[in-house]
Amino acid sequence: MSETTQRLEPLDPRPLAGRTCVVTGGSRGIGRSIAFELARCGGEVAVNYRSSDAEARAVVDRIEESGETAMAAQGDVSDPTQVGRMAEEVHDELGSVDVLVNNAGITIDRKFEEMTHEDWQQVIDVNLGGTFNCTKAFFEDIRSAEHGRLINISSVVGQQGNYGQANYATSKGGLFAFTRTLALELAGDGSTANCVAPGFVKTDMLEKVPERVQERIRSKIPLDRFAEPEDIVGMVRFLASDHASYMTGQVLGVNGGLEW
Ligand code: NAP
Repeated sequence: MSETTQRLEPLDPRPLAGRTCVVTGGSRGIGRSIAFELARCGGEVAVNYRSSDAEARAVVDRIEESGETAMAAQGDVSDPTQVGRMAEEVHDELGSVDVLVNNAGITIDRKFEEMTHEDWQQVIDVNLGGTFNCTKAFFEDIRSAEHGRLINISSVVGQQGNYGQANYATSKGGLFAFTRTLALELAGDGSTANCVAPGFVKTDMLEKVPERVQERIRSKIPLDRFAEPEDIVGMVRFLASDHASYMTGQVLGVNGGLEW
């Protein structure tokens, strides 16, 4: 057996130094925490958002105050033209992208019999179409990067389904197949694609769910609490890092023990 090459020096405190990261939907909730975490690791972060300028600005300001680099990158991910313009701005300011986190997402919940074609289409267009549009815009960057990373934020709901969320569950389930396929198409160049499937996380999105439904959901979580956005970011940091270089095409649940 060959001698081990495992290293023993302390971990690099800024493992993403010099790498450009894009976080879609980085102005609030889980995306904001991911943006902070990638910046904490030394990544230069483009904080995408659709309409919450002040929140996105606040994320950028806080990152810059910590001594790291960030920019606000407005653009509706469901619109390929806006994504193209946003990608140009990111390239101009931060250069080629190494890590893309497709996090932007919406819900329009209704039981199936009341769900309109518009409710269906809007959610598919943002959650699935937005992931396609952004991946398309940064695909060449990620493929040619030395440590290219595509990280898609799905949901346990894509695995389990959920009452009143046919549109959302379908969009999130679609991300598994998308991730797996991109993993195969990126593998030849050494870049990876993985999917994080959070459970229920305390953000504006969960806030929209009626209290009694929240209580029903919470009672089924083995760890007996909803996640904080900070509970999700460790997995994203790992996937973005060199430690995950032999991992691709995977769906990683971070869900408090929910079965699926
Ligand atoms: P959130 O608090 O509602 O934040 C959503 C973020 O996405 C905001 O930054 C928002 O930007 C952005 N966004 C929405 N539509 C957009 C669009 N068309 N173009 C660009 N940005 C857009 O949501 P969250 O709870 O943090 O969820 C983040 C991701 O995690 C979503 O993909 C969600 O499906 C997934 N997830 C959430 C939970 C949960 O329980 N919260 C569980 C599992 C998975 P603006 O501020 O400009 O609107």
